[in-house]
Amino acid sequence: MPNRDWTFLLDPPAFPADAYAPLADQLAALLGTRNDVLLIQAEAVLALEAVATSLARPDLTALNIVTSPYGSWFGGWLSRGGVHVNNLQATPAKPITTDAVAAALDAEPETKILALVHAESASGILNPLEDIVALAKKRGIITVVDAVASVGGHPLDVDRLGIDIAVIGPQKSLAGPAGLSAISISKAAWVFLDHDNPPRDSMLSLIDHKKQWLEKGRGSLPGTPALLEFYALQAAIQRVEQEGISEMVARHGRAAKATRSALQALGATLWVEKDQASALVTTAILPEKIRMNDLVGRSWGSGSDLTAGVGPGAERLIRFNHTGRRASREAVTANIEAYVYLLEHFDVEHDAVVAHLALSKTYEDPK
Ligand SMILES: *Cc1c(COP(=O)(O)O)cnc(C)c1O
Repeated sequence: MPNRDWTFLLDPPAFPADAYAPLADQLAALLGTRNDVLLIQAEAVLALEAVATSLARPDLTALNIVTSPYGSWFGGWLSRGGVHVNNLQATPAKPITTDAVAAALDAEPETKILALVHAESASGILNPLEDIVALAKKRGIITVVDAVASVGGHPLDVDRLGIDIAVIGPQKSLAGPAGLSAISISKAAWVFLDHDNPPRDSMLSLIDHKKQWLEKGRGSLPGTPALLEFYALQAAIQRVEQEGISEMVARHGRAAKATRSALQALGATLWVEKDQASALVTTAILPEKIRMNDLVGRSWGSGSDLTAGVGPGAERLIRFNHTGRRASREAVTANIEAYVYLLEHFDVEHDAVVAHLALSKTYEDPK
């Protein structure tokens, strides 16, 4: 890090009390929802924990879909609150199947809540959100979606799908600050949240937000405002709106497509099929000759971001990061060049020219 002077970050002007509601409305528009949107003054993991904690009570049964460590945590928070949790584990690091969800719901007719992650940056997979939410809707089950990574990278139409609770963070595809997050909450979900004994006077209480923010005309938020984060969120949303959310989603799609086609040309084994793949990171199985420690020990090219997969089942996966600002031709090219260098270094047979042609073709002829 260069020794830069950050004192300009001190003493920012107050964030106007009437500027919070427009931010929430802008986020609602990005999510395609008319539901309430709460602004949470913490990173998205706290928002997820607040949802689980605020929903939890001993007479509830939940189906919790686990496709990464985030799903395991969510199940743990529900259990802590006394919920009877059925954890539905996908094949490690793979997406869950709609059939498995249907079978689990049929096996437990008492299920009232279903939780899942939309797209996983840990393993580069995409869960079949639309079909799963439809299954839940048909049974009157409240759906909770962790869309922290996917918002801005994949289409996310909260009202069209009928998602009751969606948790988002600006720090992934939206390329915004990590210190804030947001939750959209449907009327049906509020009925569930407004039970006899919800958590109160707590950072994890959604009812506190309802009473202190929504019911008071959305003036000031609970707690001292994190000013710098709100200014950054405002700027990030403005940048998203300038680009347009659908163009942003398309840009992530192109980055994923270009990465996949270049990797295929290099003989890589992609981890999942195209329709099961996240547009945020692309994952492939590391060639046998290369040890994971060799990969992660150093940078393989400037501007590249190659890392190991995270969580069970992802131990041999190499992740090509093209999230947020990295969903660009430059970053995708840097990733592929770094991978070519890695293959060269470990004497794995490959054809770099064909890979670059495949990459260029995606950008020049995106159909
Ligand atoms: C990134 C992410 C979060 C937020 O967690 P951090 O690791 O703290 O950034 C939550 N859920 C999912 C699916 C994520 O990808």
